[in-house]
Amino acid sequence: MKNISDIRSDFPLLSRKVYDKPLVYFDNGATTQKPQCVIDAFNEVFTEYNANIHRGVHALSDRASEEYEKAREKVRSFINAGSREEVIFTSGTTGSINTVAFSFGERFINTGDEIIISHLEHHANIVPWQMMCDRKGAILKVIPINDRGEILFDEYLKLLNNRTKIVAVTQVSNALGTILPVKEIIKAAHSMNIPVMVDGAQGIQHGAIDVAAMDCDFYVFSGHKIYAPTGIGVLYGKTKWLSDLPPYQGGGDMVANVTFEKTTYNELPFKFEAGTMNFPGAIGLGVAIDYILSLGLEDIEKREKELLVYATERISGIKEVKIYGNTDRKISIISFLINNIHQYDAGMVLDKLGIAVRTGTHCAQPVMDRFGIDGTIRASMCFYNTTEEIDLLGTGIEKVIKMFAK
Ligand code: PMP
Repeated sequence: MKNISDIRSDFPLLSRKVYDKPLVYFDNGATTQKPQCVIDAFNEVFTEYNANIHRGVHALSDRASEEYEKAREKVRSFINAGSREEVIFTSGTTGSINTVAFSFGERFINTGDEIIISHLEHHANIVPWQMMCDRKGAILKVIPINDRGEILFDEYLKLLNNRTKIVAVTQVSNALGTILPVKEIIKAAHSMNIPVMVDGAQGIQHGAIDVAAMDCDFYVFSGHKIYAPTGIGVLYGKTKWLSDLPPYQGGGDMVANVTFEKTTYNELPFKFEAGTMNFPGAIGLGVAIDYILSLGLEDIEKREKELLVYATERISGIKEVKIYGNTDRKISIISFLINNIHQYDAGMVLDKLGIAVRTGTHCAQPVMDRFGIDGTIRASMCFYNTTEEIDLLGTGIEKVIKMFAK
């Protein structure tokens, strides 16, 4: 792997100052910073070949369409999908989950059917299913978690039954960092012919993803969590499901033939890509994938594990701190509270020290309810963070404690 200062210099924003202090960016779970190559690719679209894709016969449109489809191939290979038909571009994880919840619901869900999610879900993997349940008269079942922030696998097995129509779980909890045993979850569901959708929003950032090995039926993620622009995401689905599901949105490009009497739909993946797609975002995502592959996925994983170990030791060494999510299988996220200091107060003091952390429920209110708290402070790290930055966070927390002790 490149050395850390070279990696950091790939990300222009990391060298900026906040309140005249060097920025310490620990909010990578919310969104990641962008390397110069992604910024350049975005710029290149608008300065060299911006034109709508799949529409014109002119040179610019041809080039834009070609780059967009190249990006699809990069995503396909990155997640090891079987074919490009299985890779649909969306606006992000939220857009992808809404697509699955709507289309799967329309096709397969009836009154009294059950959908299983876990207690660790982000709101994006709760609300679309609730909306679908409301429309269809279906029931949402929730896998409980223990005090360490792990799902209770035996309870999951008990929830599976012949009314279960789909399981939708996150690969990694954004609030606590817990890695879920998705392979085992999928295996158990498949033994009863139940499909599984995996929310990869927090999984995609921290290591290699192989949807074929995982054997998930749907896998969704957002580009902005892996160093790509915002507004682009991916819905992977097995062809057998995608070809069976009705489209989510209607409009240009998703159709084969339109008359007032009857419309037929385009082939996959276009059936699910209505309207002008975010092709600059998709192209940026392709470049971001090239970038992280050039660093090496195994090296990224190793480095982030080291950061997690270092940060856990440093932060848990402060006796006023309580860490939420204490499983052995977690990604580089530390979610914590400091004594009885409100997370917003602590977050604001840290901000003044140049340290960006996330505070609040992290769009996972049920997780907070489970622990009887109204939020946490979350430091989410990735490969461009350093142990020096973790030390600054440690010192910052100690300053917060002193300040509120007065
Ligand atoms: N699921 C999880 C686990 C997440 O962490 C997030 C983003 N915080 C989402 C879904 C939603 O992602 P987006 O806002 O990019 O659609």
